[in-house]
Amino acid sequence: MTDPLLDTDAEAVLRQVHDAAAPYLDSLADRPVLDPASAPLLRELSTDVLEKGEGSAATVGRLLRIGTAAGTHSAGPRFFHFVIGGVTPAALAADWTASLLDQNAAFRTSSAFATEVETVALGWLRELFGLPESYGGALVASATFANFTGLAAATHWWGERQGVDVAADGLAGLPRMPVLSGGYVHASARKALQMLGHGRQSVEVYARDRVGRVDLDALERRLAALPGPAVIIGNAGEVNAGDFDPVDALADLAERYGAWLHVDGAFGIFAALSPRTAGLVRGIERADSIACDAHKWLNVPYESGFAFLRDPARLGVAFGMPGAAYLPADDPRGGYAMLGPESSRRARSLPIWATLAAYGRAGYQAMVERHLDLAQRLARLVDEAPDLERLAEVPLCIVCFRARPAGVPEEALDGLNRRLGQALLDDGRVFAGTTVYDGQVALRPAIVNWRTTEADIDTFVEVVRSLIR
Ligand SMILES: *Cc1c(COP(=O)(O)O)cnc(C)c1O
Repeated sequence: MTDPLLDTDAEAVLRQVHDAAAPYLDSLADRPVLDPASAPLLRELSTDVLEKGEGSAATVGRLLRIGTAAGTHSAGPRFFHFVIGGVTPAALAADWTASLLDQNAAFRTSSAFATEVETVALGWLRELFGLPESYGGALVASATFANFTGLAAATHWWGERQGVDVAADGLAGLPRMPVLSGGYVHASARKALQMLGHGRQSVEVYARDRVGRVDLDALERRLAALPGPAVIIGNAGEVNAGDFDPVDALADLAERYGAWLHVDGAFGIFAALSPRTAGLVRGIERADSIACDAHKWLNVPYESGFAFLRDPARLGVAFGMPGAAYLPADDPRGGYAMLGPESSRRARSLPIWATLAAYGRAGYQAMVERHLDLAQRLARLVDEAPDLERLAEVPLCIVCFRARPAGVPEEALDGLNRRLGQALLDDGRVFAGTTVYDGQVALRPAIVNWRTTEADIDTFVEVVRSLIR
């Protein structure tokens, strides 16, 4: 019997990917985000190959044929749904390198190289955002996991205050940990609390309006009334309009009442890169823990988040795993497996390191400022269009607006905008998603892809308006 794995021509199969890459990347500027006609191709993924295998060349050829046609081309410049960046050339090449080298970034002994790249990358990110030198962190899979990481550290800190070692003994017997936030708190912070055993309902929301702006007075009254320490979640960049909690004021409250301040800055922390927006994140350097994404505004591949802690030793408390004789796990300097939720992990530091090394602070400041300008351009086009209505200020990179054609009664607008959102996704030329802002169904395009140009913004508005008609 032949051995299909040993017979593989690795060079040929890698060349297939290489040869497909340049035309695909070149096509992104013009192709739709999703070609509705490509859906039937997905059926070809489950053909009858499992028993014998069809060989590398046929398999990779098929994957490329299906993927380049039926994939969501969110790496391209007109995907404005969620908050999704693309991938820079240096990050893409470094991501390929990460797969080539196949490092396990768990322990210094499994890869001193990956551990060191991660340490350098984290140091650069810390510098980029102006965080004090004492801050340390870990790369994690996403901002959800970064929220999990920061809130896990907060949980162990809070347990200590109750005289309990939560890492060893868990939460059993303890009262509910008070978690206070404004209305901007992200669903993934709730999910993190859910995963940590606090329950997603544990967040007490203090908002002063339907938009979710934090009610500082009510939040302070609650802090003053609590018998013990609390956790405050600050939101630096909320997803509907890109607004910010006043992080500095939350840091004051945390100081005054001995609370832990966790800040979710998934994409908003990038405001620190431009003097035009740096004021929005003032105070983030006083947080106890910070959650961020790199796969959004840094434009590196998934899965890339990072968490920073003011006292990085707390990561080892939350994520150490002593007791396995074969692991170097009793030494927190032994690797990032003991400093974050994952154990074995890919070298996701390589694309972060590479894109920062390639483009530097200057490149990222220019990109962020380009996006700030594009968001203002979009806001202006919305304001000028008689059938569109902007619903919020545009402090950063998200423009929240709705369709409001003449003659449509107010009570019909939510339905119309929901249908518009669905029509955009069905059409596929541009992507944006709907939300509910201040009680009204709205679109909320987010601009964070390095490839996006003024022409892409103009196209977006044209497509939206043509679908309204
Ligand atoms: C995107 C986002 C998250 C979750 O990020 P994932 O990378 O999808 O896990 C959390 N908070 C905010 C504010 C976000 O924008």
